[in-house]
Amino acid sequence: MSLPPLVEPAAELTIDEVRRYSRHLIIPDVGMAGQKRLKNAKVLCVGAGGLGSPALMYLAAAGVGTLGIVEFDTVDESNLQRQIIHGQSDIGRPKADSAADSVREINPLVDVIIHNEALTNDNVLEIFAQYDLIVDGTDNFATRYMVNDAAVFLKKPYVWGSIYRFDGQASVFWAEHGPCYRCLYPEPPPPGMVPSCAEGGVLGVLCASIGAIQVTEAIKLLTGIGEPLLGRLTVYDALEMSYRKIKVRKDPSCAVCGENPTVTELIDYESFCGAVSDEAASAAQGSTITPRELKEWLDAGKSIELVDVREPNEYEIVAIPGSTLIPKGDILNGSALADLPQDRQLVLYCKSGVRSAEALAAVKNAGFKDAVHVQGGVVAWVKQIDPSLPIY
Ligand SMILES: [Zn+2]
Repeated sequence: MSLPPLVEPAAELTIDEVRRYSRHLIIPDVGMAGQKRLKNAKVLCVGAGGLGSPALMYLAAAGVGTLGIVEFDTVDESNLQRQIIHGQSDIGRPKADSAADSVREINPLVDVIIHNEALTNDNVLEIFAQYDLIVDGTDNFATRYMVNDAAVFLKKPYVWGSIYRFDGQASVFWAEHGPCYRCLYPEPPPPGMVPSCAEGGVLGVLCASIGAIQVTEAIKLLTGIGEPLLGRLTVYDALEMSYRKIKVRKDPSCAVCGENPTVTELIDYESFCGAVSDEAASAAQGSTITPRELKEWLDAGKSIELVDVREPNEYEIVAIPGSTLIPKGDILNGSALADLPQDRQLVLYCKSGVRSAEALAAVKNAGFKDAVHVQGGVVAWVKQIDPSLPIY
């Protein structure tokens, strides 16, 4: 199915623009009309991180006239392995500012609009309304569902992408002409089931592979060329070097774009997606200690068993001194429970406190009633207790 162009052409291109975009202009399918449409286009990138980096850079180079950047975070050293729109000297700067500088350097003809704020229920509709198309580069489920619902309510198309380790996915969602994200994924995965890139890692260059698909689809939608990736999901496997296509149908019972929608306004996405499961949350209630308390316990020689529930490769990067590694999976499947000491208090930790809360629920169920976990995990330990250690 091809779709009409999303944007009307601008009146004309200047001499500078003709020179700059000549390699586009000589492609018959793009041509002068297509480039004028790009000039008139207003595209918003949600996030200037892994996917937002290549997306913004190529959208800018392609001559998209107005580029919006919504991003609240600052540039961290650990971003630079994949977020190539930022550089060494940008560390500590707002990502939105850093990304805007790069966009202007690539193409000064682009009008950059900076939204240096988190996307929330209070601003998402107002921000989206200013653009023709949204490119979603978010890395968490709460924002992803919010982006989808806002796009459905505003009848706008968006290009979605996601990345994890060596695997990527991309699609176009547009409820006016096809499925939305909820048609494909009606519900978020159970809390703690799907690790984020910060927890599970991502091959840096995977961002370029998926970001490039997103920009390609954006250009096709804006100019009305080719077959948009609407109603189809591309699944990319970098290790196999394969792209699979999966058909995605509009779900008549979709909660937001179906025949009888139950979601007709923005909802509480944080609680819809829940950072930890109810079971983990209730296990952690009253059984959570701060890194400072742990330090006091260790200094006082308190008899505890400090258990790191992350994966071996994470343990190799940084660990709290004196800890023993028992990956969460071995606790949840019960295989490690027999090895846990009965004579001293268990103290669990992970990277940020999500996985350890899940493991805490499991060990409490197994009878270790006085077990606790460390709030904020090893990241909080490094920040609050020993900044000489690395954070990943
Ligand atoms: Zn839907």
